[in-house]
Amino acid sequence: MSPDVRSDLDAIPSYVPGATVPGAVKLASNETTAGPLPSVAAAIVDAAAGVNRYPDITAGALVSRLSEFLGIPSRNITAGCGSVALCQQLVQAVCAPGDEVLHGWRSFEAYPIIARIAHAVPVPVPNRADGTLDLDAIADAVTDRTRLIFVCTPNNPTGPAVSHAELTAFLDRVPERVTVALDEAYYEYLRSDDPVDGVAESMARPNVVALRTFSKAYGLAGLRVGYLTGPADLVVSVGKMVVPFSVSSLAQAAGIACLDAGDELRARTDAVVAERTRVRDALIDLGHAVPESQANFVWLPLGDAAAAFDSHCRDHLVVTRCFAGHGVRVTIGDPVENDRLLAAARAFVTGT
Ligand code: PMP
Repeated sequence: MSPDVRSDLDAIPSYVPGATVPGAVKLASNETTAGPLPSVAAAIVDAAAGVNRYPDITAGALVSRLSEFLGIPSRNITAGCGSVALCQQLVQAVCAPGDEVLHGWRSFEAYPIIARIAHAVPVPVPNRADGTLDLDAIADAVTDRTRLIFVCTPNNPTGPAVSHAELTAFLDRVPERVTVALDEAYYEYLRSDDPVDGVAESMARPNVVALRTFSKAYGLAGLRVGYLTGPADLVVSVGKMVVPFSVSSLAQAAGIACLDAGDELRARTDAVVAERTRVRDALIDLGHAVPESQANFVWLPLGDAAAAFDSHCRDHLVVTRCFAGHGVRVTIGDPVENDRLLAAARAFVTGT
């Protein structure tokens, strides 16, 4: 007989990652196609010589470089093993069993999972029909049990970002006892005329934190490093939930090298943004109601046809991310990869 595990465990789904299919173009996990910048790769190699030692448990050098980069004190920053680990630490830090975690839906798949792992109750609030988060409905859904709200902006998987004006109106409505986490995993791809700067918000409000990552625009998905900014006491509480040494020395060194790279990164994100416009326009021409994306992916609201589109693309050696019955998310790759996707999308329409 196996030992007992939690009785609710069977009901908690596992996180499903994007698939990797040999020989196929992978546009399923919002990664960058290009590897790390050469200077970042060199920093990783240098750091490899020291992996016989445990990493700095506080990621002190990275936090201090982030402090300089973001223009905020180090005490307002903590690093984590990817921003998903920080989401989990945050839930653990603020929620008691039975407390409610509000989030848009669809939004990042991990939110309801990590809430349930922490014995909290995820409360999904439907997005508007155009794929934007419905901040009014989220504010309306706050109860006495609400402890945490995830606002994913730009929103994964639908793409739109919340404007600064919308966010301000929302934050003004949320009681201060509720923590609002601005998940800005795709911040570097934002090109809005009224952008949210979550780090600034997290310094201006006592109940706001921002989450960012090196996994997406910086191309370090495989190294696992992200950071959270916010009020110093909350940063300490989130830090207490960390698995010790979970930010490796390679990840810390690579993060610092990314911040040192500056303009090189901007050129990369600009290229993705240009491709985002091209791909979205082409998909709209094919009849898809693609929401305006501020991230490195686009959303095709295919409804019941989502699974058929996804498997058709796979037959054409393009791996997309299917949310069955709802839609398909496609990462913006390099121009050649995007052309492969568009060719597959055209063939789907013509039935070839
Ligand atoms: N937040 C959002 C919205 C994401 O899409 C992701 C990655 N899919 C993450 C957080 C986690 O990223 P990471 O743990 O790699 O930093």
